[in-house]
Amino acid sequence: MIQAAKTYHVGKASITRIDELQLAAFKFDALYPGAEPQSLERHRDQLEAGSFDPVAGTFIQSIHSWLVRRPHHTILIDTATGNNKNRPEIPSLHQLNEPFLARLAAAGVTPEQVDHVLLTHVHADHVGWNMRLADGRWIPTFPNATYVFSGIEQAYGESLATGTQPTGTARPAPALGPALRKPADRVYDDSVRPVIESGLARLIAVDGGEVLEGISFIPTPGHSIDHASIRLVSGGEQALFAGDVMHHPLQVYEPSLNSCFCEFPEAAWASRQLSQGAGSGLQGALAIGCTGSRPSELDRERLPPRGCLLHRETTRVATFKMRLPVKPNEAPVRAAHPTSASFPPKPRASTATGSTDRRVASDDTGRSTCRNAAWDCSR
Ligand SMILES: [Zn+2]
Repeated sequence: MIQAAKTYHVGKASITRIDELQLAAFKFDALYPGAEPQSLERHRDQLEAGSFDPVAGTFIQSIHSWLVRRPHHTILIDTATGNNKNRPEIPSLHQLNEPFLARLAAAGVTPEQVDHVLLTHVHADHVGWNMRLADGRWIPTFPNATYVFSGIEQAYGESLATGTQPTGTARPAPALGPALRKPADRVYDDSVRPVIESGLARLIAVDGGEVLEGISFIPTPGHSIDHASIRLVSGGEQALFAGDVMHHPLQVYEPSLNSCFCEFPEAAWASRQLSQGAGSGLQGALAIGCTGSRPSELDRERLPPRGCLLHRETTRVATFKMRLPVKPNEAPVRAAHPTSASFPPKPRASTATGSTDRRVASDDTGRSTCRNAAWDCSR
């Protein structure tokens, strides 16, 4: 029997994580190629149990959605990987058959009840349940929802999917710095374009403005061309759903670490300076919780001053609650792009060639299975 996940509260909103997969795939060199191993050693004792396997030396990560319930809205933030998706280049995500919708039901929500799907970006493990396979064709999993996401992400994805040169808004801004990788193949075709064709998409400018009462998309580009962190304001409290700004709590302590998945590493680096410096729109924020299984148990003393994030990828809930004068209409300024001088020094030469991908498929009864497959981070 699938049990409902724990629910957290931010103001009048309740937040429940809907799990899809756990991954124990990456060692340090694979997730952060070229970075100094001391970055991990410095903070190994600060990492929560369950977020790092000290024996195998692998980071524990998860892929999941966040269910946000408010008095008048039922919202999903990101939609994980999805079943039946053809991802041969990413074996861990290939042809999944996970009880994601059963877990959503265990939380008390049917797909038809979801009225908004908010996407931080359009990578494979964030948009998959946008569509599901029925009678051989992709149909919207959440037929009554408005799918809200960046128009730039859509335009860029469309140009790559059709093999055309990105032009106009689809063209990466020079301020992003060089692109070192691109989104995975087929994701746009089976999980993004069908949303648009179904008439359910609402494409937005990621500029910090409210898209729904108390909800705004904050620019945190770099991991992808127009990655957004989604800010929820309710009852004088805030939560920030940070998407893939970070891939592990280690980056809370070491924000200079770029994961191998960042498409535009220089901009990704800048976006992790979220709560530092003028112009972020979050300055003055006080983080009151981070990386704990239960917010009430969080250890404030261990928090770095820059705060921490309600982190999309970690198995532990990292809550970014900020005590600040709430200004719902405040539009954060896009984080300043680092100059070449401020960007971290070039990493050391890496010998990493990939990772051992251990997919942990939980059956919700405490048993789990591990599967091994190559994960080529360069894809
Ligand atoms: Zn991503």
